[in-house]
Amino acid sequence: MSSLAEAIRRDPSDKDRPLPRPLLCPICKSAVQELDRTGDATGYACATHGNFKVANTVFAEQRAKDYTREQWEAALHKAKQRKKGPVIQSYDF
Ligand SMILES: [Zn+2]
Repeated sequence: MSSLAEAIRRDPSDKDRPLPRPLLCPICKSAVQELDRTGDATGYACATHGNFKVANTVFAEQRAKDYTREQWEAALHKAKQRKKGPVIQSYDF
């Protein structure tokens, strides 16, 4: 009766998953290169959106998963107005 749980636990596909997972642009969801990661932000090199960083606090927010592409692009636009970065901050949304 525990055979199902056993089978799930032993699922061999688990160890075949490539690591690390590809990094996706949070804006357009295409696979991108990761830039140097700093302590509090992740850097992305997207063919569409260029090089930018997103502060970890952005993803820490529950509502982050509901941001639309339009919201992300607006936030990136705001971040680019600042001379430093661009680093998208949670207050850009
Ligand atoms: Zn992108």
